[in-house]
Amino acid sequence: QSQEVSQAHIDYHVALQALQEHGTRMVCTGKMHTDRICRFDYLCYCSEAEEFVFFHSNSSVMLPNLGSRRFQPALLDLSSVEDHNTQYFNFLELPAAALKFMPKPVFVPDVTLILNRFNPDNLMHVFHDDLIPAFYTMMQYSDLDDEARLVFMEGWGEGPHFDLYRLLSSKQPLLKEQLKNFGKLMCFTKSYVGLSKMTTWYQYGFVQPQGPKANMLVSGNEIRQFARVLMDKMNITRVEEMEKDGGNSEDEKGKKDEYIVLFSRSTTRLILNEAELIMALAQEFQMRVVTVSLEEQSFPSTVQVISGASMLISMHGAQLITSLFLPRGAVVVELFPFAVNPEQYTPYKTLATLPGMDLHYISWRNTKEENTITHPDKPWDQGGITHLEKEEQERILASKDVPRHLCCRNPEWLFRIYQDTLVDIPSFLEVLKEGMKTKPSVRRSKPASTVHPGRVREPQCQTSVQTTNEAKLIVSWQIPWNLKYLKVRELKYEVWIQEQGENTYMPYILPQQNYTFSENIKPFTTYLVWVRCIFNKNLLGPFADVLMCRT
Ligand code: UDP
Repeated sequence: QSQEVSQAHIDYHVALQALQEHGTRMVCTGKMHTDRICRFDYLCYCSEAEEFVFFHSNSSVMLPNLGSRRFQPALLDLSSVEDHNTQYFNFLELPAAALKFMPKPVFVPDVTLILNRFNPDNLMHVFHDDLIPAFYTMMQYSDLDDEARLVFMEGWGEGPHFDLYRLLSSKQPLLKEQLKNFGKLMCFTKSYVGLSKMTTWYQYGFVQPQGPKANMLVSGNEIRQFARVLMDKMNITRVEEMEKDGGNSEDEKGKKDEYIVLFSRSTTRLILNEAELIMALAQEFQMRVVTVSLEEQSFPSTVQVISGASMLISMHGAQLITSLFLPRGAVVVELFPFAVNPEQYTPYKTLATLPGMDLHYISWRNTKEENTITHPDKPWDQGGITHLEKEEQERILASKDVPRHLCCRNPEWLFRIYQDTLVDIPSFLEVLKEGMKTKPSVRRSKPASTVHPGRVREPQCQTSVQTTNEAKLIVSWQIPWNLKYLKVRELKYEVWIQEQGENTYMPYILPQQNYTFSENIKPFTTYLVWVRCIFNKNLLGPFADVLMCRT
């Protein structure tokens, strides 16, 4: 034991000396504050000042060294929500010599990921903004492993979904509030600050009305990998495994095992005739209908049920994020209250339709005003409008469509989105039946290959002049190198031919590895020729180096 203590003492001494001599070291990725993640040695936090501190010494490193541009507007975004002015990260600077006059630092030995949760009260935000980005940030930096420490700096309490954050690592995450307990000055031996935005698919409408992100970089594959890891950590047996264990063959598991899940909300945005809806669904699809709700059961048990469902039906709302746990080929049905246009609120549609997510999305909207129950007397944040001017209230009540708006306090939007709905069964079933017509078959919902062709090899051209106005261009190439290892359903090549100096080109799709072009080919002319391979109609390969072909 004495050895342990002295070891700790030596470590402390070594750490303190390193901090005093070397100061803080920071190396970041990213050109802009919006795509930056920084790695630090000896980043410190002063709980009294509620500031991070960078200690300068002769051997400290600060890359990028932005000077005062570090404040324009910040070094980086601490949450995955882009460029939100409440989510910026920066640090104060001090000379390492100042340590002599400061409280003794406490060192955090764990590799730490420092971030802001964006809205830990809301399940959609928990997954989209925090859990998935943190999961992939940790995958990006290999020392952010299962032993990593997460520190949440947004300043909120644990919130209702803290158990989910606990799944990210074996160590208890720390809240900003708890940092005080470590003393006045704490120094993270090794830390990463910021979150990857690579996996986010939705923007919430702070600068333009909400919608899918402009360039999405995530596919269903990464979302499903995340879902699988999370389910393992929640000890949920996956459907495929259950099938294997039960020894059910593909044919045996008929309709009897299939079921529909109705996700029920119990406090706001209600479906007023759930029982009637359940009966109608059971009858229509000849399947069991199971209800789940965040209020009435544990989250893992909800995920267990959803992970085996054929269809998930829910009023628009954060609970629909659980569709990321649905099996491939399942159907997501999202209901919208009166006057809310499904096309304008698409976080769950976007998720379901990510390439490779393999979910079939259908929306239904209440178009019957007599079937909606409004709540004008509720507080503003639950859609109340009685605090508004009389004329404004009347305008909202008369409107049949919420116009496009920015986040987050538009009273007309809140009024409409917090309505309860009596679902008109005939119209609902009609939409559902219509929507099911375009659902791909179960077989096609098996993961499609995403292997792209390599470049075609040894592209060549030969030319010949026939007469003063006729010429031939023979283009040939070899198959891409990776083709010999693949089973490809359909193999095609695309050839682009452009007369030098012109700005248009002729594209050709060909099944074979060579072709003689004679139409529109002129003598004594230079043509630029590009060739690429295409697998299964839409998997495009890269073009080979351009050929210069002179007739
Ligand atoms: N919530 C719930 N049942 C309800 C109302 C809300 O489980 O009756 C959950 C909801 O899924 C979300 C959180 O409470 O995680 C906040 O709900 P809110 O209506 O504010 O957000 P929204 O669902 O519109 O994103």
